[in-house]
Formats: sequence, structure tokens, C-alpha cells
Amino acid sequence: MLDRLPEYIDPLHLADKRGELKGRISLSNLDRLAEMLADDKGSVAFDLFFGREGRLAKIEGRIEADLELKCQNCLQAVEWPVNSEVKLGIVTSIDQANRLPEDYEPLLIEEEKVLLKNIIEDELLLVLPAFPKHQHACLIPNLGNSDADSVVNSEQSAPQNPFSILANLKKTGDL
Ligand SMILES: [Zn+2]
Repeated sequence: MLDRLPEYIDPLHLADKRGELKGRISLSNLDRLAEMLADDKGSVAFDLFFGREGRLAKIEGRIEADLELKCQNCLQAVEWPVNSEVKLGIVTSIDQANRLPEDYEPLLIEEEKVLLKNIIEDELLLVLPAFPKHQHACLIPNLGNSDADSVVNSEQSAPQNPFSILANLKKTGDL
């Protein structure tokens, strides 16, 4: 599937002939995305439909990828599935961009041909958070170490009834 994709596309021409582009691009090809990724293995799948609606030349479709971003708290990988709708209005000037219907993002083209991977990468960057983080509190276990230690110690010292352990937990919890 990869080798049949054109590297450069002419979006307006594709819109005129109601073209479809479907395929995958390796994440390792997307330079601007690279620094956000913990791992650039894998690919982004896309299915784009080009067309016209009145005077509006547009691209609609979806992109899908299973990304591994760098968590901005702990710098470990955080899985980040992307399944996002694409709705682009193809424009050739800022003026045109300002007149787009509200639910369309502008795809400003300055030359006839644009890099297909740039469109896909832009769409990915648009939906990714600026500060991706684990959904669980990934830094809390370190802060809680002293609690965990004291529980372990009290278990080792002597057989205790469960209520005194609970009492310990409560005490340390209050600290
Ligand atoms: Zn994290």
C-alpha cells in the first residue's frame, strides 16, 4: 500500500476529480512529530476523500494511529490512540481561510503540490495535547514511599492482628 501513495499531491486537482487517498505513513517519516514520541515504530492510517461543495474545495476523512507519546510528568511512554476526523477546506489565501465554514480547518496551499505526509502530520499535531500525561498519577508512588515502607516494617516485626495494621495505616495516612 505504501509504494502506491504519491509523495506529493495536488489537493485542488484531487478535489475536482473527487479523489480518495487511503494508506499508511510510517511515524518515523514524520520529523516534527518525532520529538513528542517515545517510540516511532508503527504508522498512521488515513482515508481521505477530496471533493467540492459549491465553491469550497475540501478534504474529509479520518486518521488513526496508536502513538506512544512521552509523558510530561515521568517521561515514560504513554499510549495515545488517535482516531480523529479530518475536515479541511483547501484555500490559497488567508482571506479564503477566514471565509471557511466554522467546522473546517484551513489547508493553506502556496504551491500546486504539497507533501502528503505534511497534511497527515499537521492533522496529528492538531489533535495531540501540548503536555501529554498518564491518566493515572504516575508520580505519586514516589511521594508515597515512606507510607509503603512503614507498612512493610510493621508486617515484618511480629504477627499483628489486622486492626493494629489498619491503625498504623491510618496514622501514617494522617501524616
Ligand atoms: Zn507519566
